[in-house]
Amino acid sequence: MNLPEWGAVWRTNFTSTESLLDFCEIQTEQRNAFLIDSSYPCSVPMRFAAKITKGSVDDPLFRQVVPLKKETVENDTFIKDPLKENKFLHSPCLIQKYHGRALLIATQACCMHCRFCFRRHFPHSSVPTENEFDWLKTHTDIEEVILSGGDLLALPTKRLQEIFLHLENIPHIQRIRIHTRFPIGIPERIDSQLLDIFAQCRKQIVVALHVNHPKELDDDIAEALGQLRALNILLLSQTVLLKGVNDSASTLKELMQALTKIGVLPYYLHQLDRVQGASHFEVTAEKGKELIASLQATLSGYMVPKYVQEIPGRPSKQPIENPSCSLHSWRNLDAE
Ligand SMILES: *Cc1c(COP(=O)(O)O)cnc(C)c1O
Ligand code: SF4
Repeated sequence: MNLPEWGAVWRTNFTSTESLLDFCEIQTEQRNAFLIDSSYPCSVPMRFAAKITKGSVDDPLFRQVVPLKKETVENDTFIKDPLKENKFLHSPCLIQKYHGRALLIATQACCMHCRFCFRRHFPHSSVPTENEFDWLKTHTDIEEVILSGGDLLALPTKRLQEIFLHLENIPHIQRIRIHTRFPIGIPERIDSQLLDIFAQCRKQIVVALHVNHPKELDDDIAEALGQLRALNILLLSQTVLLKGVNDSASTLKELMQALTKIGVLPYYLHQLDRVQGASHFEVTAEKGKELIASLQATLSGYMVPKYVQEIPGRPSKQPIENPSCSLHSWRNLDAE
């Protein structure tokens, strides 16, 4: 799509529901459904908002970011900390759930506020200090540090560089993985200073891009990601399966094709975490399995993400298996 030449405007966000509704030209009579004052505020980068079809309350990008009154409806199975992350905290910003990798919450800020975010109620009160780096130094089994949050790229470059220097000085860390949505909202963030930090880093860098719909991508984003690829950074994608956003085989197929085309390997399709306020986004696992089966039937194997769910206490994210691929059906084939 062609986006206007707006220069610095691309680095600004809509930070109120009303300003977003005005920009998207949502009619007054349709505004009753939206939450004007949300405790988890509206935040949408200009680039993301510019792709929303004017006047369309069903737009798949709009749905991901607009605060809805529905979010305040109580639902007992959608809770504040669905992943029981509080149990796995070594400090307020260091979580280890899985062998060999630890997740460091570098900041609470993000380039946008996704309404379905499983950390939307998370008390991100703290930022990494010497304590967290000391913990990582003494835990020699940690091979990979995942920088998430929040979004590492929301930090000022200088602070980001400090974190990288700390991690680089820990010999047993092999990889630094960044979970980010920034390239989707503000690809301009991938500037020469940031690229320099990545280029100078002696550890392997992996970037996992959070992207949910093909309309989120554009040429500027492809170019920014291309600059990361030129530094030998491995690019992976993560997508959350969301009702009314990407719960169709054609949308998911188009997304995986578009990602592959720009050098991003589909990694995970996440079943929605049952966080309070997000129940209207849930797609059943049955439907999800059908969607994956349809991708498997039409795409190259490496273009099909793993469909996973997080179950607290399990040693990894749990694959949601497609029954048609079970061992049982292989046995039947052998018997023929
Ligand atoms: C998802 C997650 C990871 C990464 O898991 P992978 O399967 O390696 O992508 C690591 N730590 C935490 C706390 C996570 O939630
Ligand atoms: S970018 Fe990720 S961490 Fe940030 S609000 Fe969206 S889902 Fe949450």
